[in-house]
Amino acid sequence: MRPEPLFPLFAPVTSLPGLGQRLGALVERVAGARVVDLLWHLPVGIVDRRYAPTLAEVEEGRIATLTVTVDGHQPGEGRRPHRVRCSDGTGSITLVFFHARREQMERAFPIGSTRLVSGRVERFGDDLQMPHPDRVGPPEEAGSIQTVEPVHALTAGLPPAVLRRSIAAAVQRAPSLPEWLDPAWKARQGWADWRVALAAAHAPTDEEGLQPGEPARARLAFDELLASQLALNLLRRRQRRVAGRPRTGDGHLRRLVLDALPYRLTGAQDRCVAEILADMATPTRMLRLLQGDVGSGKTIVALLAMLTAVEAGGQAALMAPTDLLARQHLARLAPLAAAAGLEVGFLSGRDKGKAREATLGRLADGSLRLVVGTHALFQDDVQFEALGLAVIDEQHRFGVHQRLMLARKGDAVDVLVTTATPIPRTLLLTAYGDIDVSRIDEKPPGRRPVATVALPAERLDEVVSAVDRAMATGAKVYWVCPLIEESDLVDMAAATLRAQQLEARFPGRVALIHGRMKGAERDAAMAGFADGATAILVATTVIEVGVDIPDATVMVIEHAEHFGLAQLHQLRGRIGRGSRPSTCILLHTPPLGETARARLRIMRETEDGFRIAEEDLRLRGGGEVLGTRQSGMPDFRLADPAAHADLMQAAHDDARMIVERDPELRGPRGEALRMLLYLFERDAAIRYVRSG
Ligand code: ADP
Ligand code: MG
Repeated sequence: MRPEPLFPLFAPVTSLPGLGQRLGALVERVAGARVVDLLWHLPVGIVDRRYAPTLAEVEEGRIATLTVTVDGHQPGEGRRPHRVRCSDGTGSITLVFFHARREQMERAFPIGSTRLVSGRVERFGDDLQMPHPDRVGPPEEAGSIQTVEPVHALTAGLPPAVLRRSIAAAVQRAPSLPEWLDPAWKARQGWADWRVALAAAHAPTDEEGLQPGEPARARLAFDELLASQLALNLLRRRQRRVAGRPRTGDGHLRRLVLDALPYRLTGAQDRCVAEILADMATPTRMLRLLQGDVGSGKTIVALLAMLTAVEAGGQAALMAPTDLLARQHLARLAPLAAAAGLEVGFLSGRDKGKAREATLGRLADGSLRLVVGTHALFQDDVQFEALGLAVIDEQHRFGVHQRLMLARKGDAVDVLVTTATPIPRTLLLTAYGDIDVSRIDEKPPGRRPVATVALPAERLDEVVSAVDRAMATGAKVYWVCPLIEESDLVDMAAATLRAQQLEARFPGRVALIHGRMKGAERDAAMAGFADGATAILVATTVIEVGVDIPDATVMVIEHAEHFGLAQLHQLRGRIGRGSRPSTCILLHTPPLGETARARLRIMRETEDGFRIAEEDLRLRGGGEVLGTRQSGMPDFRLADPAAHADLMQAAHDDARMIVERDPELRGPRGEALRMLLYLFERDAAIRYVRSG
């Protein structure tokens, strides 16, 4: 149950004065539906109305608050605006109003009266003007007009003043809450109480006050990070308490597979296997991330872990985010597992009927020890005889929740998450809290660097000729058409058109795959490309993850400027896998923005996934490094993982200490921390405290 002091904050925004259904809906669009959402809608700018010069002094172009006497009116006519002539003894100015009603103007500006007007001052010839003052009032209102006004992100139709007033009312409503910060840490940071910090963050007095490091903002960001880290820690502690099971194998299955491999494991692969096996052998549950750049050879490492689970008497499942990817995993694992005499089952949303029934039966009775699939694996009717290890090929598409669902399918299931994104440390903490990491930091031998060039799209003809020459030597070519309109349909049209054009030039040699294709069709296109029937695969970004065709050596990426760095890196990782040199051509359409130019430069400079991830973090800020909203990365309203990296680390350490000292949040600080979890809606974690 949410604590009572927070009730007013979780009421709908329409409970605020002056917000009815219509304006409420607009506020909801921009900030959120509840009062608390307005608290998190911090200003993005300021308007400083404190500048109050005389008309003789006023600098044009600036926002100023002027005290003037109304001298006369010049009513508008047709498209001519209404003009109000004013002066202050040092000079004169004209207030200009389009589409204004004369009576209204004369009532607002009685001749001879003194008025405060605030707005931008402009000069037309010799004449000073203020078109549509933002604020007008009698001199007594100087205190409320001559201020610094916060500016907020808006939506069409929502007057700034309405949003400003609503936010002020929400801040007013915020109760004083018990302090959840460690007193020493708070003092060292020089931070104010929550309510004071909240009010200050909403009332910046200068540009400085908008910076992420400014004390009021920093405190709020830390609160949010602490809530998130605490929730993760409580969850993790519970996972740990669900006693794990030591799983050790005798190595006989692993031996069979290793002997059948046409290559030897790299040192990094060997080390990762050892780390994973050691973790599985302990009585605590494993939650481990296997991180390795595309092409670093995660599959075999994961398989060796799966075989260990089987040797230990369990079953193992590998879950991939898409059907296409799951099938590729199957295609790669099945022949390897066959060397150990094991069959690999398959489950995806696409399979129905008898085959599915049979697979379910064999998972339940234990005659099937290995299975690969999509999230279909954690549907209710899927039961395992003895699931011991869940490998989750993350590619950033699953959240914490889904990971837990699969982990619940067995008794103390060990979990291994694999990812190709070299996630920087701070982001790792953010997304997973305490997770152990094994890193494959070495590529299989014999890889050739990929030569990367950036070319303007107008040189498409040259690119096609180059592709022609490459094909003559037997090269296979990926041709990627990006998502430009955020729409499957448009996306597909661009790829389809390009495929037709290439088909006209290279008859019979072009295949096409896109997200809207039926599974079987897509499989056929992939198969044709893999076995060499076709030599150009035109694709939307469905090939981004996982496709493995070692003899593909050329990649053309159209509109490369539309891709993020992480995505470009993932795509490029599809080539350079074989022993022949590879080329990646980034086509772009000028003019390029600064960020786009920086991305293309970094892509030309390096293939180092780590450097690319860090640059990505720098260029785009935190949330996007992991891909998208689907990343399982918590959505922060106040904290910015890039700007607040130090706070992230501090929140992480603090949360760990809290959970060590007072795991049930019973002490006085514990009580306050419960409030914090509710405030930031991380209260699901409180259940874990209770059920222990
Ligand atoms: P990823 O980490 O992207 O999942 P994969 O596991 O698909 O990489 O491996 C990429 C390719 O490298 C595969 O074709 C695989 O057979 C090969 N490979 C993996 N490990 C080695 C190794 N130690 N030596 C040579 N080739 C390897
Ligand atoms: Mg263990």
